Amino acid sequence: MTILSLTSIQKSFGDQTVLKGVDFTVASGEVHALLGANGAGKSTLMKILSGDYERDGGIITIDHKEKQFKTPADAKEAGIEMVVQEVDTALVPSLSIAENVTMNAFITGPPFFSWKKRHKRAMELLRRVGLDLDPSLPLSHCSLAEKQLVLIAKALSREISFIILDEPTAALSTKEAQHLFSVLRELQNQGVGIIYISHRLPEVMELSTQVTVLKDGYVTLQKETSECTTEEIVRAMLGNELVELLN
Ligand code: ADP
Ligand code: MG
Ligand code: MG
Repeated sequence: MTILSLTSIQKSFGDQTVLKGVDFTVASGEVHALLGANGAGKSTLMKILSGDYERDGGIITIDHKEKQFKTPADAKEAGIEMVVQEVDTALVPSLSIAENVTMNAFITGPPFFSWKKRHKRAMELLRRVGLDLDPSLPLSHCSLAEKQLVLIAKALSREISFIILDEPTAALSTKEAQHLFSVLRELQNQGVGIIYISHRLPEVMELSTQVTVLKDGYVTLQKETSECTTEEIVRAMLGNELVELLN
């Protein structure tokens, strides 16, 4: 089992301090939901973990060994992949599905990685995310939900320990979201640790094993999902005063 820990993470943009000392831990086979109102710093925290943002303070460890994570390559090297909210920025629309899915192997693999091999490898990876598509089709053929699955398939082309998904269901239909959840459960069963940013409580209650809520730069709730009520989560997200207004 692998344990990923962030301790006292701090981050400011100019004079705005977004993260004032955030702790977060996820282990193999867990689905840790990260919640918070819009602007609470969820994406910022995960971009620090993916090496996209540099933190101002705090420690990241994997199995109690300290990691620097100065670049996205450092995070990938450590087995952490991020499925960003803006899927198009992480894929190349002018290339085929197969070329997109096998991009990592193409960049780092043997120089004579044949088209036939690449096609076969893409088929295997697409099967793992339940996508029955001809990989030689252009990526532009895919719906948004399919592109997201293509991005997960691409992430799986490496050995991963952790995967971060940033509001993956924001633009999906109920049916597409259910498909995504079954893929995530399968990854969970295989021992991947999943960090799941969402602001949809029903899916968080259904999918996650742990919940962390961010508000005003701090963690306002952190516990096992099975020990949480939705009201408790809403209070942690919005604060008591706002919740009282609603009652
Ligand atoms: P969330 O994902 O919870 O909605 P974000 O992490 O995207 O929140 O943003 C938290 C705050 O940090 C927001 O006020 C946002 O404007 C600010 N922020 C995020 N990234 C940047 C950046 N690259 N430059 C300046 N401000 C940023
Ligand atoms: Mg947001
Ligand atoms: Mg965000």
